Amino acid sequence: MTATTLPSPVRDVPTQVLVGGEWRPASGGATFEVSDPATEEVLTSVADGTGEDGLAALAAAHEAAPAWAAVAPRDRAELLRACFEAIVDRTEELAALITAEGGKPLAESRAEVAYGAEFFRWFAEEAVRAPGLLRTAPAGANRQLVHRRPVGPALLITPWNFPIAMATRKIGPALAAGCPVVIKPAQLTPLTTMAVAEIVRGELAARDLPAGVINVVPTSSARTVTAPVIADPRLRKLSFTGSTGVGRVLLGQAAEQVLNCSMELGGNAPFVVFADADLDAAVEGAMVAKLRNGGQSCVGANRFLVDSAVAGEFADRLAARFERLTVGPGAEGHDVGPLIGADAVAKVHELVDDATGRGARALTGGELPDGPGYFYPPTVLADVPADARCVAEEIFGPVAPVVVFDGADAGIALANDTEYGLAAYAYTRDVDLAMRAAHEIDSGMIGINRGMVSDASAPFGGVKQSGLGREGGEAGLEEYLETVYVAM
Ligand code: NAP
Repeated sequence: MTATTLPSPVRDVPTQVLVGGEWRPASGGATFEVSDPATEEVLTSVADGTGEDGLAALAAAHEAAPAWAAVAPRDRAELLRACFEAIVDRTEELAALITAEGGKPLAESRAEVAYGAEFFRWFAEEAVRAPGLLRTAPAGANRQLVHRRPVGPALLITPWNFPIAMATRKIGPALAAGCPVVIKPAQLTPLTTMAVAEIVRGELAARDLPAGVINVVPTSSARTVTAPVIADPRLRKLSFTGSTGVGRVLLGQAAEQVLNCSMELGGNAPFVVFADADLDAAVEGAMVAKLRNGGQSCVGANRFLVDSAVAGEFADRLAARFERLTVGPGAEGHDVGPLIGADAVAKVHELVDDATGRGARALTGGELPDGPGYFYPPTVLADVPADARCVAEEIFGPVAPVVVFDGADAGIALANDTEYGLAAYAYTRDVDLAMRAAHEIDSGMIGINRGMVSDASAPFGGVKQSGLGREGGEAGLEEYLETVYVAM
Protein backbone atom coordinates (compact mmCIF):
# COMPACT_ATOMS: atom_id res chain seq x y z
CA MET A 1 0.00 0.00 0.00
CA THR A 2 1.29 3.48 -0.82
CA ALA A 3 0.24 6.61 1.05
CA THR A 4 -1.04 9.37 -1.22
CA THR A 5 0.30 12.21 0.94
CA LEU A 6 3.28 11.98 3.24
CA PRO A 7 2.34 12.19 6.92
CA SER A 8 3.74 15.34 8.51
CA PRO A 9 6.45 13.69 10.64
CA VAL A 10 8.10 12.43 7.48
CA ARG A 11 7.67 15.38 5.14
CA ASP A 12 10.70 17.50 6.11
CA VAL A 13 13.17 14.73 6.83
CA PRO A 14 16.21 14.41 4.53
CA THR A 15 16.04 11.21 2.52
CA GLN A 16 19.36 11.26 0.67
CA VAL A 17 22.97 10.38 1.35
CA LEU A 18 24.90 12.93 3.46
CA VAL A 19 28.52 13.35 2.34
CA GLY A 20 30.76 16.25 3.34
CA GLY A 21 27.85 18.48 4.36
CA GLU A 22 25.70 17.90 1.23
CA TRP A 23 22.59 15.73 0.95
CA ARG A 24 22.71 14.07 -2.47
CA PRO A 25 21.17 11.10 -4.32
CA ALA A 26 22.81 7.70 -4.05
CA SER A 27 25.49 7.15 -6.69
CA GLY A 28 23.38 4.52 -8.43
CA GLY A 29 20.26 6.73 -8.33
CA ALA A 30 18.20 4.01 -6.63
CA THR A 31 15.89 4.38 -3.63
CA PHE A 32 14.19 2.03 -1.17
CA GLU A 33 10.91 2.40 0.72
CA VAL A 34 10.39 2.94 4.42
CA SER A 35 7.03 1.79 5.81
CA ASP A 36 4.89 2.26 8.91
CA PRO A 37 4.67 -1.10 10.72
CA ALA A 38 1.28 -0.17 12.21
CA THR A 39 -0.39 0.30 8.82
CA GLU A 40 2.04 -1.33 6.36
CA GLU A 41 1.81 1.91 4.33
CA VAL A 42 4.88 3.33 2.62
CA LEU A 43 6.01 6.51 4.37
CA THR A 44 8.64 7.66 1.91
CA SER A 45 11.57 6.53 -0.24
CA VAL A 46 15.19 6.88 0.79
CA ALA A 47 18.39 6.98 -1.27
CA ASP A 48 19.82 3.49 -1.58
CA GLY A 49 23.50 4.05 -0.80
CA THR A 50 26.22 2.03 -2.53
CA GLY A 51 29.79 1.03 -1.78
CA GLU A 52 30.85 4.09 -3.78
CA ASP A 53 28.77 6.30 -1.46
CA GLY A 54 30.29 4.59 1.56
CA LEU A 55 33.80 5.32 0.33
CA ALA A 56 32.89 8.93 -0.56
CA ALA A 57 31.57 9.36 2.98
CA LEU A 58 34.76 7.85 4.40
CA ALA A 59 36.86 10.19 2.22
CA ALA A 60 34.92 13.19 3.59
CA ALA A 61 35.40 11.95 7.17
CA HIS A 62 39.11 11.31 6.56
CA GLU A 63 39.57 14.77 5.12
CA ALA A 64 37.79 16.40 8.07
CA ALA A 65 39.71 14.38 10.69
CA PRO A 66 42.78 16.60 11.28
CA ALA A 67 40.73 19.80 11.45
CA TRP A 68 38.13 18.21 13.75
CA ALA A 69 40.80 16.79 16.07
CA ALA A 70 42.30 20.31 16.27
CA VAL A 71 38.99 21.96 17.26
CA ALA A 72 39.12 22.95 20.93
CA PRO A 73 37.35 20.47 23.21
CA ARG A 74 35.23 23.36 24.52
CA ASP A 75 34.00 24.10 20.98
CA ARG A 76 33.19 20.44 20.38
CA ALA A 77 31.32 20.47 23.69
CA GLU A 78 29.31 23.53 22.68
CA LEU A 79 28.38 21.94 19.37
CA LEU A 80 27.04 18.87 21.18
CA ARG A 81 25.21 21.00 23.73
CA ALA A 82 23.51 22.92 20.90
CA CYS A 83 22.50 19.62 19.27
CA PHE A 84 21.07 18.42 22.61
CA GLU A 85 18.94 21.55 22.84
CA ALA A 86 17.82 21.35 19.21
CA ILE A 87 16.68 17.74 19.71
CA VAL A 88 14.81 18.59 22.90
CA ASP A 89 13.13 21.54 21.14
CA ARG A 90 11.96 19.17 18.41
CA THR A 91 10.76 16.40 20.72
CA GLU A 92 7.24 16.14 19.30
CA GLU A 93 8.39 16.04 15.68
CA LEU A 94 11.11 13.45 16.35
CA ALA A 95 8.83 11.34 18.53
CA ALA A 96 6.21 11.26 15.77
CA LEU A 97 8.91 10.17 13.34
CA ILE A 98 10.12 7.35 15.62
CA THR A 99 6.55 6.12 15.98
CA ALA A 100 5.87 6.41 12.25
CA GLU A 101 8.83 4.30 11.13
CA GLY A 102 9.36 2.07 14.18
CA GLY A 103 5.85 1.70 15.60
CA LYS A 104 6.49 2.32 19.30
CA PRO A 105 3.82 4.13 21.33
CA LEU A 106 4.19 7.91 21.18
CA ALA A 107 4.87 8.21 24.92
CA GLU A 108 7.79 5.79 24.55
CA SER A 109 9.05 7.68 21.50
CA ARG A 110 9.10 10.91 23.53
CA ALA A 111 11.07 9.07 26.21
CA GLU A 112 13.50 7.85 23.57
CA VAL A 113 14.01 11.41 22.30
CA ALA A 114 14.83 12.54 25.86
CA TYR A 115 17.17 9.56 26.37
CA GLY A 116 18.80 10.04 22.96
CA ALA A 117 19.32 13.79 23.48
CA GLU A 118 20.90 13.05 26.85
CA PHE A 119 23.90 11.38 25.15
CA PHE A 120 24.69 14.69 23.47
CA ARG A 121 24.42 16.59 26.77
CA TRP A 122 26.46 13.97 28.65
CA PHE A 123 29.25 13.86 26.06
CA ALA A 124 29.23 17.66 25.74
CA GLU A 125 30.20 17.57 29.42
CA GLU A 126 32.74 14.76 28.92
CA ALA A 127 34.39 16.37 25.84
CA VAL A 128 36.45 18.66 28.06
CA ARG A 129 37.52 15.90 30.47
CA ALA A 130 39.60 13.48 28.36
CA PRO A 131 42.01 12.01 30.92
CA GLY A 132 45.84 12.21 30.86
CA LEU A 133 48.77 11.44 33.19
CA LEU A 134 52.24 12.69 34.05
CA ARG A 135 54.35 10.76 36.55
CA THR A 136 57.83 9.64 37.39
CA ALA A 137 58.67 6.08 36.38
CA PRO A 138 59.16 3.76 39.41
CA ALA A 139 62.92 3.48 38.71
CA GLY A 140 63.16 7.26 38.63
CA ALA A 141 64.94 7.28 35.28
CA ASN A 142 62.32 9.14 33.30
CA ARG A 143 58.93 10.80 33.31
CA GLN A 144 55.89 9.17 31.75
CA LEU A 145 53.49 11.38 29.88
CA VAL A 146 50.27 9.63 28.85
CA HIS A 147 47.86 11.51 26.68
CA ARG A 148 44.79 10.68 24.63
CA ARG A 149 44.03 11.50 21.04
CA PRO A 150 41.05 10.75 18.79
CA VAL A 151 41.23 7.34 17.18
CA GLY A 152 40.16 8.77 13.80
CA PRO A 153 37.29 8.26 11.32
CA ALA A 154 34.63 5.93 12.73
CA LEU A 155 31.99 3.80 11.02
CA LEU A 156 28.82 3.63 13.13
CA ILE A 157 26.32 0.87 12.29
CA THR A 158 23.02 1.08 14.18
CA PRO A 159 19.94 -1.15 14.65
CA TRP A 160 16.31 -0.24 13.94
CA ASN A 161 14.84 -0.54 17.44
CA PHE A 162 16.00 2.78 19.00
CA PRO A 163 16.80 4.94 15.96
CA ILE A 164 17.69 8.10 17.89
CA ALA A 165 19.33 6.71 21.02
CA MET A 166 21.49 4.11 19.27
CA ALA A 167 22.78 6.85 16.95
CA THR A 168 23.43 9.57 19.55
CA ARG A 169 25.07 7.03 21.89
CA LYS A 170 27.78 6.69 19.22
CA ILE A 171 27.79 10.14 17.55
CA GLY A 172 28.03 11.92 20.92
CA PRO A 173 31.25 10.31 22.19
CA ALA A 174 32.83 10.15 18.72
CA LEU A 175 32.38 13.87 18.14
CA ALA A 176 33.36 14.69 21.73
CA ALA A 177 36.61 12.75 21.30
CA GLY A 178 37.39 14.43 17.96
CA CYS A 179 36.45 11.61 15.55
CA PRO A 180 34.45 12.27 12.34
CA VAL A 181 31.79 9.66 11.59
CA VAL A 182 30.13 7.71 8.80
CA ILE A 183 26.74 6.38 9.92
CA LYS A 184 25.01 3.39 8.35
CA PRO A 185 21.49 3.57 9.84
CA ALA A 186 19.11 0.61 9.85
CA GLN A 187 17.19 0.01 6.66
CA LEU A 188 13.86 -0.24 8.49
CA THR A 189 14.15 3.03 10.47
CA PRO A 190 16.68 5.36 8.79
CA LEU A 191 14.59 8.56 8.96
CA THR A 192 15.02 9.50 12.63
CA THR A 193 18.79 9.02 12.42
CA MET A 194 18.86 11.19 9.29
CA ALA A 195 16.83 13.90 11.04
CA VAL A 196 19.40 13.90 13.86
CA ALA A 197 22.26 14.04 11.33
CA GLU A 198 20.60 17.08 9.74
CA ILE A 199 20.52 18.78 13.16
CA VAL A 200 24.25 18.11 13.63
CA ARG A 201 25.02 19.19 10.04
CA GLY A 202 23.16 22.46 10.59
CA GLU A 203 24.95 23.19 13.88
CA LEU A 204 28.35 22.43 12.29
CA ALA A 205 27.59 24.76 9.38
CA ALA A 206 26.38 27.52 11.70
CA ARG A 207 29.74 27.41 13.49
CA ASP A 208 31.84 27.06 10.33
CA LEU A 209 33.16 23.72 11.56
CA PRO A 210 34.31 20.98 9.12
CA ALA A 211 31.30 19.64 7.21
CA GLY A 212 32.75 16.14 6.80
CA VAL A 213 32.45 15.48 10.54
CA ILE A 214 29.10 13.73 10.01
CA ASN A 215 28.17 11.59 7.00
CA VAL A 216 25.22 9.21 6.56
CA VAL A 217 24.74 6.40 4.06
CA PRO A 218 21.32 4.73 4.20
CA THR A 219 21.08 1.55 2.18
CA SER A 220 19.00 -1.54 1.56
CA SER A 221 22.20 -3.54 1.17
CA ALA A 222 24.24 -3.05 4.34
CA ARG A 223 27.21 -5.19 3.44
CA THR A 224 27.65 -3.48 0.05
CA VAL A 225 28.24 -0.19 1.85
CA THR A 226 30.08 -1.33 4.95
CA ALA A 227 32.49 -4.00 3.62
CA PRO A 228 34.56 -1.64 1.41
CA VAL A 229 34.62 0.96 4.18
CA ILE A 230 35.82 -1.58 6.75
CA ALA A 231 38.51 -2.79 4.33
CA ASP A 232 39.81 0.77 3.77
CA PRO A 233 42.81 1.78 5.92
CA ARG A 234 41.45 5.32 6.30
CA LEU A 235 38.84 3.85 8.68
CA ARG A 236 40.18 3.66 12.25
CA LYS A 237 37.16 2.63 14.28
CA LEU A 238 34.08 0.41 13.95
CA SER A 239 31.21 0.78 16.40
CA PHE A 240 28.33 -1.61 15.86
CA THR A 241 25.04 -2.18 17.65
CA GLY A 242 22.94 -5.09 16.50
CA SER A 243 22.67 -8.85 16.64
CA THR A 244 25.46 -11.12 17.81
CA GLY A 245 25.42 -12.94 14.45
CA VAL A 246 26.13 -9.79 12.43
CA GLY A 247 28.62 -8.64 15.07
CA ARG A 248 30.64 -11.83 14.53
CA VAL A 249 30.69 -11.23 10.75
CA LEU A 250 31.86 -7.63 11.23
CA LEU A 251 34.54 -8.64 13.74
CA GLY A 252 35.85 -11.08 11.12
CA GLN A 253 36.04 -8.29 8.52
CA ALA A 254 37.60 -5.88 11.02
CA ALA A 255 40.32 -8.42 11.86
CA GLU A 256 41.98 -7.79 8.48
CA GLN A 257 42.95 -4.27 9.58
CA VAL A 258 43.05 -5.06 13.32
CA LEU A 259 40.43 -2.33 13.54
CA ASN A 260 39.48 -0.80 16.88
CA CYS A 261 35.97 -2.24 17.53
CA SER A 262 33.10 -1.60 19.92
CA MET A 263 30.32 -4.19 19.78
CA GLU A 264 26.90 -3.80 21.44
CA LEU A 265 25.26 -7.12 20.63
CA GLY A 266 22.26 -9.25 21.46
CA GLY A 267 20.94 -10.19 24.88
CA ASN A 268 18.90 -12.80 26.71
CA ALA A 269 18.18 -10.95 29.95
CA PRO A 270 17.08 -13.07 32.90
CA PHE A 271 14.53 -11.46 35.24
CA VAL A 272 15.05 -13.40 38.47
CA VAL A 273 12.37 -13.28 41.16
CA PHE A 274 13.64 -14.82 44.39
CA ALA A 275 11.28 -16.30 46.99
CA ASP A 276 11.37 -13.25 49.27
CA ALA A 277 10.77 -10.66 46.52
CA ASP A 278 8.24 -7.86 46.85
CA LEU A 279 5.83 -9.18 44.22
CA ASP A 280 4.15 -5.81 43.64
CA ALA A 281 7.53 -4.32 42.77
CA ALA A 282 8.52 -7.37 40.71
CA VAL A 283 5.35 -7.21 38.60
CA GLU A 284 5.77 -3.46 38.05
CA GLY A 285 9.43 -3.97 37.11
CA ALA A 286 8.48 -6.83 34.78
CA MET A 287 6.07 -4.57 32.89
CA VAL A 288 8.88 -2.11 32.18
CA ALA A 289 11.62 -4.65 31.57
CA LYS A 290 9.47 -6.72 29.20
CA LEU A 291 7.31 -4.27 27.34
CA ARG A 292 9.54 -1.35 26.35
CA ASN A 293 9.21 -1.08 22.57
CA GLY A 294 6.85 -4.07 22.63
CA GLY A 295 9.65 -6.30 23.89
CA GLN A 296 11.98 -5.30 21.04
CA SER A 297 14.85 -4.14 23.21
CA CYS A 298 18.28 -5.68 23.69
CA VAL A 299 17.95 -5.26 27.47
CA GLY A 300 14.34 -6.47 27.49
CA ALA A 301 13.62 -9.23 30.00
CA ASN A 302 13.67 -12.41 27.91
CA ARG A 303 13.29 -15.09 30.60
CA PHE A 304 11.32 -14.75 33.85
CA LEU A 305 13.03 -17.10 36.29
CA VAL A 306 10.83 -17.34 39.37
CA ASP A 307 11.25 -19.29 42.61
CA SER A 308 8.62 -22.04 42.91
CA ALA A 309 7.37 -20.43 46.16
CA VAL A 310 5.97 -17.45 44.23
CA ALA A 311 5.94 -18.52 40.56
CA GLY A 312 2.18 -19.17 40.27
CA GLU A 313 1.21 -15.89 41.90
CA PHE A 314 3.77 -13.89 39.90
CA ALA A 315 2.61 -15.36 36.59
CA ASP A 316 -1.09 -14.80 37.37
CA ARG A 317 -0.50 -11.21 38.43
CA LEU A 318 1.63 -10.46 35.37
CA ALA A 319 -1.03 -11.99 33.10
CA ALA A 320 -3.73 -9.84 34.76
CA ARG A 321 -1.66 -6.71 34.05
CA PHE A 322 -0.96 -7.79 30.44
CA GLU A 323 -4.69 -8.30 29.84
CA ARG A 324 -5.42 -4.65 30.63
CA LEU A 325 -3.02 -3.37 27.96
CA THR A 326 -4.34 -1.97 24.69
CA VAL A 327 -2.60 -3.00 21.48
CA GLY A 328 -2.73 -0.80 18.37
CA PRO A 329 -0.99 1.97 16.42
CA GLY A 330 1.53 3.79 18.61
CA ALA A 331 0.38 7.15 17.24
CA GLU A 332 -3.09 6.55 18.73
CA GLY A 333 -1.88 6.25 22.30
CA HIS A 334 -2.03 2.47 22.70
CA ASP A 335 0.11 0.76 25.33
CA VAL A 336 1.74 -1.70 22.92
CA GLY A 337 2.50 -0.94 19.28
CA PRO A 338 3.28 -3.24 16.36
CA LEU A 339 6.38 -5.36 15.94
CA ILE A 340 8.76 -4.16 13.25
CA GLY A 341 7.66 -6.51 10.46
CA ALA A 342 5.92 -9.66 9.33
CA ASP A 343 9.06 -11.76 9.91
CA ALA A 344 9.21 -10.56 13.51
CA VAL A 345 5.57 -11.58 14.12
CA ALA A 346 6.18 -14.99 12.55
CA LYS A 347 9.29 -15.59 14.66
CA VAL A 348 7.61 -14.57 17.93
CA HIS A 349 4.63 -16.81 17.19
CA GLU A 350 6.92 -19.70 16.29
CA LEU A 351 8.64 -19.37 19.69
CA VAL A 352 5.26 -19.34 21.48
CA ASP A 353 4.14 -22.42 19.53
CA ASP A 354 7.38 -24.18 20.38
CA ALA A 355 6.90 -23.46 24.10
CA THR A 356 3.26 -24.55 24.20
CA GLY A 357 4.22 -27.63 22.19
CA ARG A 358 6.60 -28.52 25.02
CA GLY A 359 3.91 -28.11 27.72
CA ALA A 360 3.84 -24.36 28.48
CA ARG A 361 0.44 -22.72 29.06
CA ALA A 362 -0.53 -19.31 27.63
CA LEU A 363 -2.18 -17.47 30.55
CA THR A 364 -2.99 -14.63 28.18
CA GLY A 365 -2.24 -13.87 24.52
CA GLY A 366 -0.55 -16.33 22.19
CA GLU A 367 -3.05 -15.91 19.33
CA LEU A 368 -2.12 -14.32 15.99
CA PRO A 369 -4.35 -11.28 15.31
CA ASP A 370 -5.64 -10.30 11.87
CA GLY A 371 -3.90 -7.47 9.94
CA PRO A 372 -3.19 -4.83 8.87
CA GLY A 373 -0.12 -4.00 10.92
CA TYR A 374 2.41 -6.28 12.53
CA PHE A 375 0.75 -6.70 15.92
CA TYR A 376 1.25 -9.45 18.48
CA PRO A 377 -0.68 -9.68 21.76
CA PRO A 378 1.09 -9.36 25.11
CA THR A 379 1.53 -13.00 26.15
CA VAL A 380 2.41 -14.70 29.44
CA LEU A 381 3.54 -18.32 29.26
CA ALA A 382 3.51 -20.37 32.48
CA ASP A 383 5.29 -23.69 33.15
CA VAL A 384 7.85 -23.07 30.41
CA PRO A 385 10.43 -25.89 30.31
CA ALA A 386 14.07 -24.76 30.41
CA ASP A 387 14.70 -26.33 26.98
CA ALA A 388 12.05 -24.24 25.17
CA ARG A 389 13.54 -22.14 22.35
CA CYS A 390 12.25 -18.87 23.85
CA VAL A 391 14.48 -19.47 26.87
CA ALA A 392 17.64 -19.61 24.74
CA GLU A 393 16.81 -17.21 21.87
CA GLU A 394 16.03 -13.48 21.82
CA ILE A 395 12.22 -13.29 21.60
CA PHE A 396 12.06 -9.61 20.57
CA GLY A 397 8.32 -9.44 21.22
CA PRO A 398 5.81 -8.96 24.08
CA VAL A 399 6.06 -12.53 25.34
CA ALA A 400 6.97 -13.34 28.95
CA PRO A 401 7.96 -17.00 29.53
CA VAL A 402 7.96 -17.97 33.21
CA VAL A 403 10.47 -20.68 34.16
CA VAL A 404 10.36 -22.06 37.71
CA PHE A 405 13.41 -22.77 39.92
CA ASP A 406 13.91 -24.03 43.47
CA GLY A 407 16.22 -21.93 45.69
CA ALA A 408 18.63 -19.06 45.01
CA ASP A 409 21.52 -21.26 43.79
CA ALA A 410 19.34 -22.75 41.07
CA GLY A 411 18.04 -19.30 40.07
CA ILE A 412 21.52 -17.89 39.61
CA ALA A 413 22.68 -20.99 37.72
CA LEU A 414 19.70 -20.73 35.33
CA ALA A 415 20.35 -17.00 34.82
CA ASN A 416 23.90 -17.84 33.70
CA ASP A 417 22.83 -20.66 31.39
CA THR A 418 23.19 -18.57 28.20
CA GLU A 419 25.86 -17.41 25.76
CA TYR A 420 24.67 -13.82 26.32
CA GLY A 421 25.43 -11.42 29.17
CA LEU A 422 24.00 -7.98 28.45
CA ALA A 423 21.42 -7.11 31.12
CA ALA A 424 19.87 -8.96 34.06
CA TYR A 425 17.29 -8.11 36.71
CA ALA A 426 16.95 -9.54 40.22
CA TYR A 427 14.21 -9.03 42.79
CA THR A 428 14.80 -9.79 46.47
CA ARG A 429 14.40 -8.02 49.82
CA ASP A 430 17.63 -9.60 51.12
CA VAL A 431 20.64 -7.28 50.66
CA ASP A 432 23.12 -10.17 50.81
CA LEU A 433 21.26 -12.06 48.10
CA ALA A 434 21.01 -8.90 46.00
CA MET A 435 24.79 -8.40 46.21
CA ARG A 436 25.37 -12.05 45.48
CA ALA A 437 23.16 -11.86 42.37
CA ALA A 438 24.98 -8.69 41.25
CA HIS A 439 28.35 -10.45 41.56
CA GLU A 440 27.47 -13.95 40.37
CA ILE A 441 25.17 -13.29 37.42
CA ASP A 442 27.41 -12.92 34.34
CA SER A 443 26.05 -9.73 32.93
CA GLY A 444 27.37 -6.31 31.97
CA MET A 445 24.42 -4.61 33.68
CA ILE A 446 22.07 -5.69 36.45
CA GLY A 447 18.95 -4.02 37.82
CA ILE A 448 18.33 -4.80 41.49
CA ASN A 449 14.64 -4.34 42.25
CA ARG A 450 14.50 -2.18 39.09
CA GLY A 451 13.20 -3.01 35.63
CA MET A 452 15.27 -0.36 33.87
CA VAL A 453 19.05 0.07 33.70
CA SER A 454 19.67 2.43 30.76
CA ASP A 455 21.16 5.82 31.62
CA ALA A 456 23.41 8.01 29.44
CA SER A 457 25.74 8.59 32.40
CA ALA A 458 26.30 4.86 33.10
CA PRO A 459 28.47 2.33 31.23
CA PHE A 460 26.17 0.31 28.95
CA GLY A 461 27.43 -2.96 27.48
CA GLY A 462 27.67 -6.68 27.77
CA VAL A 463 29.94 -9.61 28.61
CA LYS A 464 30.23 -13.00 26.89
CA GLN A 465 28.67 -12.88 23.39
CA SER A 466 26.77 -9.67 24.15
CA GLY A 467 29.66 -7.51 23.14
CA LEU A 468 32.92 -5.68 23.58
CA GLY A 469 33.32 -2.21 25.11
CA ARG A 470 30.89 0.19 26.73
CA GLU A 471 28.75 3.10 25.60
CA GLY A 472 27.64 5.98 27.83
CA GLY A 473 29.28 7.07 31.05
CA GLU A 474 32.96 7.97 31.21
CA ALA A 475 33.76 4.70 29.43
CA GLY A 476 31.86 5.77 26.31
CA LEU A 477 34.44 8.42 25.47
CA GLU A 478 37.33 5.99 25.92
CA GLU A 479 36.05 3.93 22.99
CA TYR A 480 37.01 6.79 20.64
CA LEU A 481 40.40 7.66 22.16
CA GLU A 482 43.87 6.23 21.59
CA THR A 483 46.37 6.17 24.45
CA VAL A 484 49.81 7.59 23.64
CA TYR A 485 52.71 7.17 26.06
CA VAL A 486 55.70 9.49 25.86
CA ALA A 487 58.85 8.59 27.83
CA MET A 488 60.75 11.77 28.74
P1 NAP B 1 21.01 -6.56 12.90
O1 NAP B 1 20.21 -7.33 11.93
O2 NAP B 1 22.24 -7.16 13.44
O3 NAP B 1 21.32 -5.17 12.19
C1 NAP B 1 22.00 -4.13 12.86
C2 NAP B 1 22.63 -3.21 11.82
O4 NAP B 1 23.61 -3.94 11.09
C3 NAP B 1 21.64 -2.68 10.78
O5 NAP B 1 22.03 -1.38 10.41
C4 NAP B 1 21.85 -3.65 9.64
O6 NAP B 1 21.49 -3.15 8.38
C5 NAP B 1 23.33 -3.88 9.71
N1 NAP B 1 23.76 -5.13 9.07
C6 NAP B 1 23.09 -6.28 8.94
N2 NAP B 1 23.85 -7.20 8.30
C7 NAP B 1 25.03 -6.59 8.02
C8 NAP B 1 26.23 -7.00 7.36
N3 NAP B 1 26.38 -8.23 6.87
N4 NAP B 1 27.23 -6.11 7.24
C9 NAP B 1 27.10 -4.86 7.73
N5 NAP B 1 26.00 -4.41 8.37
C10 NAP B 1 24.97 -5.27 8.52
O7 NAP B 1 20.15 -6.14 14.18
P2 NAP B 1 18.71 -5.47 14.21
O8 NAP B 1 17.71 -6.49 13.83
O9 NAP B 1 18.72 -4.17 13.49
O10 NAP B 1 18.59 -5.14 15.76
C11 NAP B 1 18.20 -6.08 16.69
C12 NAP B 1 19.42 -6.70 17.36
O11 NAP B 1 20.24 -5.67 17.88
C13 NAP B 1 19.06 -7.56 18.54
O12 NAP B 1 19.90 -8.69 18.56
C14 NAP B 1 19.34 -6.66 19.73
O13 NAP B 1 19.60 -7.34 20.93
C15 NAP B 1 20.53 -5.92 19.25
N6 NAP B 1 20.68 -4.65 19.95
C16 NAP B 1 21.71 -4.54 20.84
C17 NAP B 1 21.85 -3.36 21.56
C18 NAP B 1 22.95 -3.21 22.56
O14 NAP B 1 23.18 -2.09 23.00
N7 NAP B 1 23.65 -4.25 22.94
C19 NAP B 1 20.96 -2.30 21.36
C20 NAP B 1 19.93 -2.47 20.43
C21 NAP B 1 19.81 -3.65 19.73
P3 NAP B 1 20.01 -3.42 7.81
O15 NAP B 1 19.11 -2.59 8.65
O16 NAP B 1 20.09 -2.98 6.42
O17 NAP B 1 19.75 -4.89 7.96
